[in-house]
Amino acid sequence: MVPSHFFLSFRRKKCICWICLEESTYDSTWLQHTCGCNLQIHKSCYLRWLYQIHIELFLSDPTNLPKGADLPIITSLKCLVDGHHDFMTTFSLTEIWETRPIWGQKPVPFQNDYVFNLLSLYTKRNNHPPYVLVKFGECPQCKKTNFINRPTVTIQSPVLSLFYQWQKITRYVIPLGITSLFLLNPEKTSFDLGLWQLRCLFPENVLRNMLNISTTKALDVYAQTERGLLSIPLSSSIIIYGFLHYLSNISNVSANAILFKWVYLNIVKTAGNKYYKGIALPKIILYSNLATFCYNFSFKRLLDLIYNKLLNKGAKNLYHGDFENANHSVPVDDFFVRRSWYTILAEKIIWPFVGKCAGGLLFNLFLWIQKMFKIGWSPNCSPSEFRMIFNIIGCGTAAIGWSSLKLYANYKRCQELEEINRFVEENCKDE
Ligand SMILES: [Zn+2]
Ligand SMILES: [Zn+2]
Repeated sequence: MVPSHFFLSFRRKKCICWICLEESTYDSTWLQHTCGCNLQIHKSCYLRWLYQIHIELFLSDPTNLPKGADLPIITSLKCLVDGHHDFMTTFSLTEIWETRPIWGQKPVPFQNDYVFNLLSLYTKRNNHPPYVLVKFGECPQCKKTNFINRPTVTIQSPVLSLFYQWQKITRYVIPLGITSLFLLNPEKTSFDLGLWQLRCLFPENVLRNMLNISTTKALDVYAQTERGLLSIPLSSSIIIYGFLHYLSNISNVSANAILFKWVYLNIVKTAGNKYYKGIALPKIILYSNLATFCYNFSFKRLLDLIYNKLLNKGAKNLYHGDFENANHSVPVDDFFVRRSWYTILAEKIIWPFVGKCAGGLLFNLFLWIQKMFKIGWSPNCSPSEFRMIFNIIGCGTAAIGWSSLKLYANYKRCQELEEINRFVEENCKDE
């Protein structure tokens, strides 16, 4: 990231491209040398230059090219120019353990580290083909090879940047934080996580009933030791440990997921205290099941329909050839903004918390409307239970809002890919 004052200092600066010798004021089409020399170059001129270097390096007769012979070079250039390149890649757990996302990701397509380039040729991940450029030219004045920033093309979209940053943050936080916690003490971490999520959604009295315990503070004490964890009733343990998994699969309609949800909800239904006089858990479960059913058969269907349309229109812009999906193992919403397991895991972990915040907003809105229109209605449950209903509605609202944003980000990314393809192909064709 280049700080904004950097741009400001160049805003009115006159630039002369040392390749085409054209002169104009500095804008996003220019690259400034970072080697210390006072030189500027057009992004497009630099790209054409790189193209020429690689054509001469790899193809024996550059004047008489067979059709498509330069395809790997063009694809490498698209990879280089793509300012949101990480949307095309995901990392497996082994790569996380090799700390590759932290040390090795940023300069992947643009660096002079030959060992690393060879490494990426060697590993040949199927979603990240080894399209790596070999040379990046050198500064005509000081002869340094590391003399310029990546000539990136991005479109201005706050939503797209949001998704990109979110993916980047989770790439650091999840592998480092959560993985190490799970490795050190997996039982305690999953227990604490489940309990925290339950507490986000349910008030203390409902939780006491659900987990059949006199106070949930006792659970914090139990969680300190191995022996303590073992002394918690089995049904309560299952409810706490299984909650994250239940949330992750809430809209999953595969046979395994349905079976798991059915068993889980039955445990929740039967575990509770029978003499409890509050809002009944079976009722909450019934309504949330109905809501997910409606979500799956209306909103999700609509989203899939739009994604398919987007894919028909924009699949040709996905420059990684083998990214195209022959056996439909990649979901339709994963093509343009490819999301990794750590991003999805992070979303599932914070979902109840976001739902609680959204629920709070909706609750205040409800109170405001009630006050405005002088509605004298009061719910026939306790205030904390009434708030809980809003938490659950908040979770649904957050999920719908996030999926809509994701759809918009995909649409924007599709436009961006079109722009990248156009930029590279235009500059590599007209000689
Ligand atoms: Zn130029
Ligand atoms: Zn220089």
